[in-house]
Amino acid sequence: MDFAELKQECLVCRRCPLCKTRTNVVFGQGAQDAEVLFVGEGPGQSEDEKGQPFVGRSGQLLDKYLFAIDLDRSRNCYIANIVKCRPPQNRDPLPEEREACMPWLREQFRFIRPKIIVCLGRIAAQSMIRPDFAITKEHGQFFEKGGTLFMATFHPAALLRNPAQKPEAFSDFAVLRDKIREVCGHTY
Ligand code: SF4
Repeated sequence: MDFAELKQECLVCRRCPLCKTRTNVVFGQGAQDAEVLFVGEGPGQSEDEKGQPFVGRSGQLLDKYLFAIDLDRSRNCYIANIVKCRPPQNRDPLPEEREACMPWLREQFRFIRPKIIVCLGRIAAQSMIRPDFAITKEHGQFFEKGGTLFMATFHPAALLRNPAQKPEAFSDFAVLRDKIREVCGHTY
């Protein structure tokens, strides 16, 4: 199976009840050879409607942060989510929904082979790094797991709700830029 076939299979997935309320499966977007993979928790309303990750107001903010460190989802990074279908009313995805969907992300990881995974927000960090991960204390730090570097920063939607955290998020992206320069071969 190649990456395109993986996507086609995912687009018709019915492994968990979120398939009943979704409009579109949001598989992910970006460069297939990306060395940096961003992972959010799940699609919101705009993402569900368009079938692309981070396309609403929070997506525009994310794109600004990416641009600031010379990343671009059409060129040198990839963006995906823990769950590929929108949870109703934007509630947190349930543990069983995350568990059902995680194999898709694992397969994406297997094809893309990123050097760095950046978790966007608490849910992604707790799913990918550690169940008790504390985003306000541990954001911007790198953790090595199985040869891949993991880092978490605030979810862009949280930054829109709480703009006081924007400088901290910006410094996380500056730290990320330095780490990319250190460990990535072709991102820049
Ligand atoms: S959330 Fe994931 S596991 Fe559930 S139906 Fe959508 S793609 Fe399948």
